Amino acid sequence: MRIAREEKSRYLNPSDELPHFANLREAEISAATCRRCPLWERATQTVFGAGANHARVVFVGEQPGDVEDRKGLPFVGPAGKLLDRALNQAQINRDLCYVTNAVKHFKWEPLGQRRLHKKPTSREIQACCPWLHAELELIQPEIVVGLGATAAASLFGVPVRIADVRGKLTHVESVGRTCLITAHPSSVLRAPDPKTRDVEFDRLVQDLTLLQEFAG
Ligand code: SF4
Repeated sequence: MRIAREEKSRYLNPSDELPHFANLREAEISAATCRRCPLWERATQTVFGAGANHARVVFVGEQPGDVEDRKGLPFVGPAGKLLDRALNQAQINRDLCYVTNAVKHFKWEPLGQRRLHKKPTSREIQACCPWLHAELELIQPEIVVGLGATAAASLFGVPVRIADVRGKLTHVESVGRTCLITAHPSSVLRAPDPKTRDVEFDRLVQDLTLLQEFAG
């Protein structure tokens, strides 16, 4: 879908503030036509967050993947399945939570017939950040879980090293909430061998058990 030139220029300024939304549905409808950064152009659709409207725990990933882009839902591809397995093992009920991404359009580059995930830039993370803040304002969760470096950068407002902040409940000033930073499930999938994958999976489960009292 292409939009008129005037409309495009009106929406492309990433520093524009978002309007106030009465509820998540209203925000989701507005995000469907977002043009704050160029990522909308090559994606199928905006993938907004999904889950319980007043969840005590919100999970934030990086961006939708190939499957999510086609289905229009977050964490329903291979990384989502691994997250489900980790949540099960940590005895966290995903149905009580809300799941979203720091960046809401799929960024990719072609590799033969495949669409290969491409990491969003700081500018794209920044442009999309107001949508995440809008979701958090409407949901008012007690804990925000940042899955991976992009989510952590979006929550802290600056790049952070996962190793420095991982696995502890920390008050993060820029979102005014308690956050838990852990690995993105796709990094577990990308582990170089089965043994490392098992170790990384167990570490993820261990981090997620900190959420039991909020969504167990
Ligand atoms: S990635 Fe975010 S900021 Fe960029 S166009 Fe999509 S919804 Fe808007």
